Amino acid sequence: MVSCTYKELKNLWLEKLEDSNIESAEFEINEMLGKALGIDCRKPVYLEKLKSGVNIEVKKIFEKLCERRLNGEPLQYILGEWEFYGLPFKVGEGVLIPRQDTETLVDIAVKKLGKEENLIVTDLCSGSGCIGISLEKNLSCEKVVCVEKSDKALKYLKQNVQINQSKAEIINGDIFDSNVLSTVPISDLIVCNPPYITADEMKKLQREVTFEPESALFGGEDGLDYYRDITRIYKDKIKDGGMLLFEIGINQEDEVMRILIQHGFKNVRTRPDLIGVNRCVFGQKLEKTKLCTDVMSV
Ligand code: GLN
Repeated sequence: MVSCTYKELKNLWLEKLEDSNIESAEFEINEMLGKALGIDCRKPVYLEKLKSGVNIEVKKIFEKLCERRLNGEPLQYILGEWEFYGLPFKVGEGVLIPRQDTETLVDIAVKKLGKEENLIVTDLCSGSGCIGISLEKNLSCEKVVCVEKSDKALKYLKQNVQINQSKAEIINGDIFDSNVLSTVPISDLIVCNPPYITADEMKKLQREVTFEPESALFGGEDGLDYYRDITRIYKDKIKDGGMLLFEIGINQEDEVMRILIQHGFKNVRTRPDLIGVNRCVFGQKLEKTKLCTDVMSV
């Protein structure tokens, strides 16, 4: 039997991916073939390889990856690794995939706190650790703590700390558990990308997103449960002058800003992501100033 080349094999599956309306089919097929071959598809050696005849074992591996993709599984899970803020993160079933939107949050923290030193940073609902680890790499930190309750996510979080040679520490537990709370340090910055999808939106998730853990997506009926509880409980874990910084879902900025203001945060702002959607809300804890104004207003 005459075997086909990798290029022919690739084109065969490219068509199948396109037929099932996978948007970036060409990009994805190269990534999957590169993975099956054990070659970085962005290197010239990959283009060379496409001209050669297929190895039956590689073909089997590749077809399996393509079948998973056709079944709706996200490319990131299939590849097992994804880039965030220029760093590699291991991902797979049970952990939220790092998204480019979330880089907005890291950008804000770096912009606001880039000149400070010895920062204490806490990342709640850490998942893969993409936020906490990126902050540890891009800010001058004395301590970074990542809190995560899911055992599946924890496995990736640990690996990601390791592969990025990060000094971030991990607390394994529920952010609302009193033992966890007592272990979280008083921080200069608390960041969180909580589950924020509403009950209605959960019914209409993109197929790929349904493969991600519900516990990392569903934020209660109106999507705001975590913002209310975290702001209430964790404001006492922020230093005077420190910052609380959330990622938010589309159109949640007014509600989340209101929650922060109600809890006494000052300088409460929202910021857009690269496509102009308000993606973050942050505020400053200013107890002393508050006290002054309170006294003055007496
Ligand atoms: N950004 C994710 C999405 O829209 C949701 C993640 C979250 O709830 N924090 O699919």
